[in-house]
Amino acid sequence: MKKILIAVLVLTCLSLVSCTREVKSQVSETKVADFGLVIHGGAGNIVKERFSPEKKTEYEQKLEEALNTGYEILKNGGASLDAVQATINVLEDSPLFNAGKGAVFSAEERNELDASIMDGKTLNAGAVAGVMHTRNPVNLARLVMDSSKHVMMVGAGAEEFGKQFDIEFVDTEYFKTEKSWKALQRAKAKEKSLNEKMGTVGCVALDKNGNLAAGTSTGGMTNKKFKRVGDSPIIGAGTYANNNTCAVSATGHGEFFIRNCVTHDISALMEYKNLSLKDAADKVIMKKLKNQGGNGGIVAIDKNGNVAMTFNTPGMFRGFRLSGKKAVVKLFAE
Ligand code: ASP
Repeated sequence: MKKILIAVLVLTCLSLVSCTREVKSQVSETKVADFGLVIHGGAGNIVKERFSPEKKTEYEQKLEEALNTGYEILKNGGASLDAVQATINVLEDSPLFNAGKGAVFSAEERNELDASIMDGKTLNAGAVAGVMHTRNPVNLARLVMDSSKHVMMVGAGAEEFGKQFDIEFVDTEYFKTEKSWKALQRAKAKEKSLNEKMGTVGCVALDKNGNLAAGTSTGGMTNKKFKRVGDSPIIGAGTYANNNTCAVSATGHGEFFIRNCVTHDISALMEYKNLSLKDAADKVIMKKLKNQGGNGGIVAIDKNGNVAMTFNTPGMFRGFRLSGKKAVVKLFAE
């Protein structure tokens, strides 16, 4: 009798567990959009008081322009990878963000740029670090992915590789902006390496074929020394995409993102623990990272079009646009 009772109890427990699993996967299997994209333009001390109405509008317009660029590609049946690249190019070409044109200065008064891109369908990836002449570093990262056997190339070598292709190189002066220059002087005066100028850029996208892609581009951190490289060009730290789970791009204090393999961690929580995108992002950004004092955030989209824009800083330049909907852009925490 006792044995039968125990068996009944075990069976009930087991069926309860599988029910919970079913409910969870039912929730995450609901398709919310056929295609869409999410972007960030950096996280940090982005608060209302620091933005005049004009400045706020300037950021909003640029974020919206970037979103619409990627959206058109996706709407016309283009690949998520192409949408990610073109969207990031808009942000790289703007002096507002710490990527491409507006990249921050290193302690040696140089602009050393990092970028990466990843294809969620094949898990192929490309990355470059410490490049100094490439106008759009994410384009060079794409070439590393598509046209070499490697994942990552650095500095002059990466640019030597890029010379075989149709890619734009610029004089180092191109990257110099008054804003980044002043940020370096302030950082030097305080003897601090701090990201006064927020603005790493990133994009994740889901296309009509269900393919996910992610990309990130940055100048790194103001006053960085000794050829420091952050998380942005590191696959699994700053950028990750996997068709089975999600595409993620990060921004924030790179050292924490590297140590915690943040973007891969979010994907792994979905894959192995069946967490929703939002729950996975909250666990990593709002708990794990925050408890360590790691500031920053992520943008992500999953295979069903669910979006996450999670950050533990006062603000993050961000936005998304899903199929058939208008673009949404935001700066401050809500
Ligand atoms: N994550 C970038 C880095 O550490 C900086 C940033 O996102 O603000 O290089």
